[in-house]
Amino acid sequence: MPAKLLKGAEVAKEIRAELKKEVESLKEKHGVVPGLVTILVGENPASQSYVRAKQKTAHELGFHSVQDNQPADLSEDKLLALIDKYNKDPQIDGILVQLPLPKGVNENKILLAIDPSKDVDAFHPVNVGKLMIGEPDYLPCTPAGIQELLIRSGTEVSGAEVAVVGRSNIVGKPIAVMLMQKGPGANATVTVCHTRTKDVKFHTKRADIVIAAAGVTEYVKGDMIKPGAVVIDVGVNEVGKTADGKRILKGDVAFDEAVEVASAITPVPGGVGPMTITMLMKNTVRGCKLHHNIKD
Ligand code: NAP
Repeated sequence: MPAKLLKGAEVAKEIRAELKKEVESLKEKHGVVPGLVTILVGENPASQSYVRAKQKTAHELGFHSVQDNQPADLSEDKLLALIDKYNKDPQIDGILVQLPLPKGVNENKILLAIDPSKDVDAFHPVNVGKLMIGEPDYLPCTPAGIQELLIRSGTEVSGAEVAVVGRSNIVGKPIAVMLMQKGPGANATVTVCHTRTKDVKFHTKRADIVIAAAGVTEYVKGDMIKPGAVVIDVGVNEVGKTADGKRILKGDVAFDEAVEVASAITPVPGGVGPMTITMLMKNTVRGCKLHHNIKD
């Protein structure tokens, strides 16, 4: 029987409805509105489309949302000054600087300049450290989306063997840390694979949950998956364009093969992607509560 589809797009819709109610209640009971600024430097088309999607969602949820577009030749100092402005702006709870930044701008320096309490991407070392010790203010968005999808689909994570393919700071490392923590949707035994792993298949094949975040189109084949495993495909790889110019996307998993072996699998698109944006919104609401000392 083909695997059940873990439709992140549908789960994300559910969470957004919950967030919308929370935003209304924050407005009514406390007179506050979550504020999100997305800073886009340059005109990278993929970045433009990500930022548009983030702003659209923020707007739909009733946030105070600001899209700040800057030219590609913006100097590092000017970008730092801009971040400083939003760090001090009481209407802004979350600052998102869309990556990648143009060449010549030191990304680490920029991310370090964001006030950790407004770092809704959770990339600042303070937030990375808090995640590591199991006391996060913010969870990084893509890993948080993956974990939420596992929880809401009823996947047993506690005690599961998990193989993560990829060790980036954005996906592989944080999801590994999150799933091995104590707590709901965690308590897993996690193996992290990368380009120096001797036999990736050995690890994926014995995993109850495979998380593919390698950035390599259809890297995880059907024969690398244990029958009945749950497969989370994080990959977003552009493999061409449709006649009307839309991007054709494929994941890091050979979907047609994997769907015959796994018990559940995320599609690409419509899997992890929509969850990522939704988790950014969740973090912004959390930021608003943190800044106004509002308890859950
Ligand atoms: P990344 O920074 O390029 O990292 C890729 C990781 O995969 C690296 O750790 C690399 O190992 C490992 N890797 C690459 N080829 C491998 C191979 N053949 N065998 C084993 N490991 C291999 O990528 P990323 O930022 O984590 O993103 C991964 C994918 O997820 C991309 O397709 C990206 O577009 C997508 N993504 C999607 C979302 C979403 O919201 N859906 C969000 C973020 C990223 P080394 O460390 O040894 O080089």
